[in-house]
Amino acid sequence: MGGDERSLGQDATREMTVLQPADAVLETWRPSRFMVVVAHPDDADFGPAATAAAWIAAGSVGRLVCCTSGDAGAEDPDEDPIALAATREREQRDAAAIVGYDDVVFLHQPDGALANELPLREHLVREIRAFRPDAVLCNDPEMIFWTDGGVNHADHRAAGIAAVDAVYPAARNPMAFPWLARSGLAPHRVRRLYLFWTERADVWVDVTTTVERKIAALGMHASQIHEPERLAERITAWAATEGARVGVSAAESFRRVVIDEDEAIDEDEAG
Ligand SMILES: [Zn+2]
Repeated sequence: MGGDERSLGQDATREMTVLQPADAVLETWRPSRFMVVVAHPDDADFGPAATAAAWIAAGSVGRLVCCTSGDAGAEDPDEDPIALAATREREQRDAAAIVGYDDVVFLHQPDGALANELPLREHLVREIRAFRPDAVLCNDPEMIFWTDGGVNHADHRAAGIAAVDAVYPAARNPMAFPWLARSGLAPHRVRRLYLFWTERADVWVDVTTTVERKIAALGMHASQIHEPERLAERITAWAATEGARVGVSAAESFRRVVIDEDEAIDEDEAG
């Protein structure tokens, strides 16, 4: 649905109200492969696009999975949802090309009715096992009410918890959806989650060199964004505020969840 701009707050002052750790950490770990899982076309670009672009520029391979095609993202009840979905998929593919993802996958779940149920989990496990990411970036599913007002979209929460549940334990358990393993999609251990749109951020990624690409990617979502220049100003100001916490010009923040330390995986794979 529309309105994802609100996920960033009405202006750049949200950060003033958010409790942050005194020792904000600049993230230096970088996944070789990462997957971004979102509810709607444009979520990834309002979300971690500058981080994705920075990691890809440094040599990572990234893939984007959109659970819906945003077919309810307009104000007119007579709008054709199929045509809107096609428009939004095209916009997202254009934006993804700017960020540098190797592919965009659409799961074609219903916009506005996304549910963390077994069929969605199976879709996500299939994508994770096929792509084999070290890290998955998704919405913080615990984010319901924003401190400065507003409610996080139900689809965002559903996409976030669906991604978490697919990562752990399903993707790594050969007996979860056993037909997947039997058909050659071997279990896979995602080492880390990076949760965005969170008020519990604990790591910051330096996006000084890629925040402009985030803005350019957002510009591809013409059906959703009606004041691109104002949006660009807000994104720039927001990234600068985040960056100031860790002493860089621009940053994006995440709530980091380490599931497996790298050493544990490397020992397993060696053994
Ligand atoms: Zn959204």
